[in-house]
This record gives sequence, structure tokens and C-alpha cells, in this order.
Amino acid sequence: MLIPCPYCGPRDSSEFTYSGDATVTRPDAANTTIEDWSDYIYQRTNPVGVHQDYWHHVQGCRLLLKVTRNTLTHEVSGAEIVGPWQNALKSQSQSGAVNSQNKDGAA
Ligand SMILES: [Zn+2]
Repeated sequence: MLIPCPYCGPRDSSEFTYSGDATVTRPDAANTTIEDWSDYIYQRTNPVGVHQDYWHHVQGCRLLLKVTRNTLTHEVSGAEIVGPWQNALKSQSQSGAVNSQNKDGAA
């Protein structure tokens, strides 16, 4: 499975670490029950079809990505950077300053 890292380009999934379900939102700790908190931590669905997960590019740029993929076919239809680097890299790519060497697929 290839994951299209916005910074490095398409990379094999073996370079990434799965970092969790991107569709789950953290409840407000001040206004939640212990059962809801337990569900947030331990309960996950097993979706079939298009889903979003977090993947950490540990053997590349080390950015956290939100990847959209089909859990049935493993087809990846998109990936976006999340976290504090999201906006910084967008402004660099608009000015052409993103690492152009790595965009060609070189390690
Ligand atoms: Zn990367």
C-alpha cells in the first residue's frame, strides 16, 4: 500500500506507523462520564469502506498524516498533514520551497 505523503511523495506503508482512528473525537474531560471516556479510549468500530486514519511517517519526514483509505481494497485516496506543520508546509509549497528533491521520490 502506497501512502502519498504530501512532503515526501508516495511511500510504502512500511515507512509509517498506524496512529489511530481519525474519526474519533476526544470528549471534554470536564463534561463526560467514565463510561463515555472508556468508550473513547477502548471502543472502536471496524468500518468497511472509506475511512480516515492517522499515520505517522516515522521513517520519512516524521509528520502525522490523516489518510483516507478504503479498508476493503486498501486504496488510498488522499493524505493530509495534521498538527502544527499543516499550515507552515502549505505556505512553503505555495512559494515552491517544499523539499523538491524528496518530491521526486528520492529518499
Ligand atoms: Zn513524509
